[in-house]
Amino acid sequence: MIGPDLRLPAKPYLSEPGSAGAESNYIDGAWRAADKGGTRNVLNPYDASVLTVVSESGAADAETAVAAARAAFDRGDWARRPAAERGEILGRIADLLQRDRDEIALMESLDTGKTIEEGGVDVDDVTAVFRYYAGLADKDAGRVVSAPEGVFSRVVYEPVGVCAMITPWNYPLLQLSWKMAPAIAAGDTMVVKPSEITPVTTCKLVELCTEAGVPAGVANLVLGTGAEVGSALVEHRDVDLVSFTGGLATGKRIMASAAATVKKVALELGGKNPNIVFPDVDLDTAVDYAMMAAFFHSGQVCSAGARLVVHEDVHDEFVAELCRRAERVRLGCGQHEGVQCGPLVSAEHRAKVEAAVARGVEEGATLAVGGHRPDEPELADGFFYRPTVFTGCRGDMDIVQTEVFGPVVTVETFRTEDEAIAIGNDTDYGLSGAVWTDDPGRGERVAAGLRHGTVWINDFGPYFPGAEWGGFKRSGVGRELGQAGLDEYREAKHIYRNLAPEPQRWFD
Ligand code: NAD
Repeated sequence: MIGPDLRLPAKPYLSEPGSAGAESNYIDGAWRAADKGGTRNVLNPYDASVLTVVSESGAADAETAVAAARAAFDRGDWARRPAAERGEILGRIADLLQRDRDEIALMESLDTGKTIEEGGVDVDDVTAVFRYYAGLADKDAGRVVSAPEGVFSRVVYEPVGVCAMITPWNYPLLQLSWKMAPAIAAGDTMVVKPSEITPVTTCKLVELCTEAGVPAGVANLVLGTGAEVGSALVEHRDVDLVSFTGGLATGKRIMASAAATVKKVALELGGKNPNIVFPDVDLDTAVDYAMMAAFFHSGQVCSAGARLVVHEDVHDEFVAELCRRAERVRLGCGQHEGVQCGPLVSAEHRAKVEAAVARGVEEGATLAVGGHRPDEPELADGFFYRPTVFTGCRGDMDIVQTEVFGPVVTVETFRTEDEAIAIGNDTDYGLSGAVWTDDPGRGERVAAGLRHGTVWINDFGPYFPGAEWGGFKRSGVGRELGQAGLDEYREAKHIYRNLAPEPQRWFD
């Protein structure tokens, strides 16, 4: 279905460019306009044209959505439903995602700039997440606890309540699925707020939830900025949990402001992820994976391998090949055949990437490849940036320490295993990292030494719905996916029954 003239499908929540109204908030089972009638032009990052018009909401809309979620939770019927039934709904959502795979892949591609193939892979990954939690929903209702004679003691799991879900623009659908699927499994109700610049597939997923049988008031959606809608959700007394995926600075702000109401906070933040290459590996393979790690989705990936740490014996050969391949990367429209990387998501984001690259040059890193916008005139209107390689980097450089979130990779060298681990851990972040070696013992030792939530040995990037994902250190709080990803959305309650109470006479 790849082609240059593809457009968004007609949807009740997406208005034509130039139109005045938009009804893109979904509250208590109905699409609604923003309270004050606000709208936002969503841009196509390929050429900066207006892709669609959606609602732009404010605090009043957040208030209405929280009230709907609270009422739906307090009615109790959703949480009391047999968990297997909620699992069936999750299974139906997975089926609908596959039914509409091509449409969703196109929507994600147009909205974020990623290629349609990447959009399709996202849909498959999201489907797998819904299927995983469909299966897990009724598997673990609680347990009997060892207790003295005459006592029956058990722990049961209950939903947390009303959950606010705040998501970023790089994987709008995927990041939401990691929150929404376990929350539905657990019996929570929710208010979703996607990034204001990429709201399209979030609307689509909410539409599919309704079709799959999620009741009115359970899954609500409010579109708007973080400052207006996001902060209103975080501060709201009736929100019991905030699950946030996004940048470190926003995460800190959310954690601080959630403290006022002592709500639960789950944070999936950024990363500066080391990709460590020992000299005993096949360099062609290691370079191939390093390219994917650094430049897939133009590096706008929280787990991007943006920090290459290469043994000094193979550094020159490795870097020469990396640069040769980086120079050849085909940028273009995500809906065109043969394109390997789309644009960055916005002009503002590209300006941040350009500022980071300028700082790298200032602090003495060597710009080996890239460091500029593409020359092709047909890419001039979009937010493109060439894959960029910095060599001669040191751990004290800003370009090495700060997450750029663009197609920029730094290269450092090491001599010993201990040094490689030390460099891999020399970061405030702790999201992911990789080690490349043909020595299994060394692979395991380095994996054990790295303080990151995911470590790949001889690979980069894969994750499974059944394996917890999350950050050590400042990459976040809590875990998504796996059993722990369900536990985030449940409260454990201990119920203690005294089978034969008798007076204790303490106060006689
Ligand atoms: P961001 O922090 O700017 O925004 C994320 C979301 O938070 C958006 O919906 C935004 O509107 C909202 N927001 C902004 N200010 C807010 C506030 N004061 N209160 C409440 N909500 C607010 O991040 P971004 O630029 O959209 O995404 C990029 C970041 O996301 C990167 O740092 C990346 O590493 C991170 N990320 C992490 C993971 C992970 O799994 N750890 C996955 C994807 C992205």
